[in-house]
Amino acid sequence: MKNIIITGGAGFIGSHVVREFVKNNPDITIINLDALTYAGNLENLKDIENEPNYVFEKADITRPDELRTVFEKYNPDAVVHLAAESHVDRSITDPMAFINTNVNGTANLLNLCKEFWTLNPDHTHGRFPDEQRKNLFYHISTDEVYGSLGETGFFLETTPYDPQSPYSASKAASDHLVRAYGNTYGMPFIVSNCSNNYGPNHFPEKLIPLCISNIINEKPLPIYGDGKYTRDWLFVIDHAKAIHQIFNDAKTGETYNIGGFNEWQNIDLVKELIRQMDAKLGRPAGYSEKLISFVKDRPGHDKRYAIDATKLNKDLGWKPSVTFEEGLAKTIDWYLENKEWLENVTSGDYQKYYEKQYN
Ligand code: NAD
Repeated sequence: MKNIIITGGAGFIGSHVVREFVKNNPDITIINLDALTYAGNLENLKDIENEPNYVFEKADITRPDELRTVFEKYNPDAVVHLAAESHVDRSITDPMAFINTNVNGTANLLNLCKEFWTLNPDHTHGRFPDEQRKNLFYHISTDEVYGSLGETGFFLETTPYDPQSPYSASKAASDHLVRAYGNTYGMPFIVSNCSNNYGPNHFPEKLIPLCISNIINEKPLPIYGDGKYTRDWLFVIDHAKAIHQIFNDAKTGETYNIGGFNEWQNIDLVKELIRQMDAKLGRPAGYSEKLISFVKDRPGHDKRYAIDATKLNKDLGWKPSVTFEEGLAKTIDWYLENKEWLENVTSGDYQKYYEKQYN
């Protein structure tokens, strides 16, 4: 392969994925295609922006004309697709933005790949013999497409889809489209569905960076409902490494769940953050617990997500490199060392969104 397009590469996960691909593939040009919405920030890639195998192209996946220009320029061998509207709360207030980007944008990309690549519909479900795999559409998705779990059990790759929010429904639709293009046109594809990510460069509308920012500034820590919502958490760099490994080693037509075997109730997670941050900030133990503030629940809130990532471990030997406590410590250190990044992204439009959401 000579050219790989990574969409959404200026976002939280995308920037770590771009870095992983750029560093590990010096002979391949990595094209970061991103519209730079509120969530896209080229500051995330400052350390690699001058690498000879990295280029940035500003383009909107909802605009086929803009995508075509990039495809004509680079004739990509593969697409790793992360560009999306990604925040559940925003999908509740503005579902159409999610349908436009996540559903139509994915379809626009698939159509261009279909036009630019030589496909073979004989290979049903996009399952190409390895030696014939010249192209790949690798779609990055979420465990939220599976809906909500009860007290026990895990999401498997075979769990039926049951999305509950406009965000997860739009991601589910995009997953179905990718598999449909594989089945119908012989598009070589892979899908992976990952649990909640955390780590450096996470936009502070999401729980962990929001709480880090508010603990620093001694502002309330908003927690939905009774705080018992349970999520499986994965350090973003482990996700980026999993994506790179799946891209290289997985067979086409496959789906992989990626997760940390690492479930936390929101309230316990926030208390762990407080424990670590109070110590790092030289505050008395438990000092910031007074900031915990239970807020009105999100409509349609899924109770529990938990991923079973056994298939990925068995097939490719992947497992997370850090525990949650270690990953959290690295994350807190990053935010404390990059206060300017935090200040830049929390000014302007974000302030307006934040005030509307929580005041
Ligand atoms: P993010 O919101 O931080 O970044 C999204 C990026 O996509 C931004 O750089 C933004 O500018 C870009 N983008 C948005 N609309 C675009 C458009 N129309 N055209 C081109 N670029 C556009 O998101 P993230 O948290 O990094 O998530 C990346 C992907 O991973 C998403 O597809 C998301 O569904 C998936 N995912 C996220 C998580 C998580 O915990 N954050 C977990 C599993 C899967």
